[in-house]
Amino acid sequence: METYDGRCLCGDVRFRAIGAPKWVLWCHCQSCRRHSGAPASVFVSFAHEQVSMLAGEIAKYGSSPGVERGFCARCGSTLTCSNARLPNETHFHVGAFERAADLAPMGELFGGERLPWFEPRTGALGGVAAMAAIALARGKKARERS
Ligand SMILES: [Zn+2]
Ligand SMILES: [Zn+2]
Repeated sequence: METYDGRCLCGDVRFRAIGAPKWVLWCHCQSCRRHSGAPASVFVSFAHEQVSMLAGEIAKYGSSPGVERGFCARCGSTLTCSNARLPNETHFHVGAFERAADLAPMGELFGGERLPWFEPRTGALGGVAAMAAIALARGKKARERS
């Protein structure tokens, strides 16, 4: 059985999911953007019976009717989203999991709300490539000024 351990930044909240997730998806909606502070979120869906709490509890904020957003009340880490229309599952933010590298998204939700500069499939620059891109952009600006 696959095991996915997750926790918030401070470690007060810890949980474990057993078995394969139902799905892993990008969400580009504005509500997730506001809750996470990130340009997009990746959610990992687990059925309630797959998940057990190991420590603490997930604080909840009702962001719209039927939608609850979970976070750590101490450190503020963004942890979950749940929707009353999908009552048997919780959607966990991928960054909470130790094995986030194994949880690659298979698609996306609310693609119409994706930020125009965000390219989840093609925008993966490694550290060196990203620094090169920044240097190139700076050089271009400098040439435009002169
Ligand atoms: Zn915490
Ligand atoms: Zn969303």
